[in-house]
Amino acid sequence: MATVISHGAAENVTGSCHFLEINNIKMLIDCGMFQGSHEEKNEERFGFNPAEIDYLLLTHAHIDHIGRVPKLVKEGFKGTIVSTSATWDIAYIMLMDAAKIFNEEYRTLYRKKQRVGEEDSLKKPLYDEDDIYDTFQLNHINAIYNEAFVLSDDITLTFKDAGHILGSSFIQIDFQENNLSKSVVFSGDIGNIRRLVIDGLQYGKQTQTLFVESTYGDRVHRDLDASIAEFKEVIKDTIEDDGIVLIPSFALERTQEILVLLKEMFDNKELEHCKVFLDSPLAIKATELYSNYPLFLNEKHKSSASMGENPFLFDALRLTRDIRESMTINDVKKRAIIIAGSGMCTGGRILHHFKHRLWDKNNAVIFVGFQVEGTLGREIIDGTKMINVRGENVMVNAKVHTINGFSAHGDREDLIDWISHFKDLEMIYLIHGECDKMDAFKTTLKERFESIKVHIVKEREHIYI
Ligand SMILES: [Zn+2]
Repeated sequence: MATVISHGAAENVTGSCHFLEINNIKMLIDCGMFQGSHEEKNEERFGFNPAEIDYLLLTHAHIDHIGRVPKLVKEGFKGTIVSTSATWDIAYIMLMDAAKIFNEEYRTLYRKKQRVGEEDSLKKPLYDEDDIYDTFQLNHINAIYNEAFVLSDDITLTFKDAGHILGSSFIQIDFQENNLSKSVVFSGDIGNIRRLVIDGLQYGKQTQTLFVESTYGDRVHRDLDASIAEFKEVIKDTIEDDGIVLIPSFALERTQEILVLLKEMFDNKELEHCKVFLDSPLAIKATELYSNYPLFLNEKHKSSASMGENPFLFDALRLTRDIRESMTINDVKKRAIIIAGSGMCTGGRILHHFKHRLWDKNNAVIFVGFQVEGTLGREIIDGTKMINVRGENVMVNAKVHTINGFSAHGDREDLIDWISHFKDLEMIYLIHGECDKMDAFKTTLKERFESIKVHIVKEREHIYI
């Protein structure tokens, strides 16, 4: 029997890694990093021998889906990697950025330990740039959306657009076993039909078995149009009052969505006499990659790209790559929008701008992404009046806005609608969700699809499909 064993993103949302064996061919679907409270699990050995894995299939290039790939390679994986070309390109910049952060954290800790003579006790970073180089030397197959790819005599793969971030996919695996035709789908992360930058979510056709993410299986998102209207209102009000808007943003997808909205505001003359700074080297690289894949963009941007227009660039936009350029933003006293990482304010250049701007009541900060508990971003939206930025206390006098409708994940109704398009579905396995959300999603699924069994996957549980 074909077997699935989850080695991550089972009863939690990070570390996505699912082992699948069909007719002695061993595959992994994603090999992501554990984040937040599960971070220490990245150090653990894999629950399988990396050298025995034949294929690594990547759904998309978020770090919780690709972040342990160089560790997999370091520990012996020599197989073939299959992903869309956009996923593979984004994976490179994301992994290089992760290695840089590991290295910086290691150097800081090393100096601290050295002062007390304990530097030998320090663990080396999870991987370094050499391991990433080795990863990108491996055989890679470009998956093309909706084109079946024959992996072996009895296994065929089809990648379809998951509408989540550029290049994101859900993967259908059709196989023959004991003269029976079977299929299984791994959802990766599911977006929704209407996206501001990329093409929307596609539907699957037929499968008996589905492993589906459940991140927002318990809730319905705020309407996108209402979120856009609120976003524009805050920007206009702050700029009209000669203030400065700070937007902590994730480098992938959210930054590009913010850029197309700002460009639209300039085009419609909703915004004038104002500078926009994209102050994040990673977000600048990601935006360049988005420009390289016009065919993956939605109809509006595809057609403007076909006329030679870059959907993300406009006259007022300045891309500040190096620190020297970034420091010149300090000289801007009014009417500016600064987009900087990290998205949850746990590091990056946004901290520098907080130090310089948050004390001023004319300014505003707009949170456009989910802020996990324990992060500085969460502290600010929870209403703290004083934050500590790199050892310095800063008053929070700027107006704080949280706009939640930009999620790259589908909500409960999007997921149910997507699932309802599969014919012959017998079994749904829930992965990639927090326990309480999965329980709620399981109850809803059992009500909506009475004949389909639903099971919440446990880590390292053997599932026969
Ligand atoms: Zn994702």
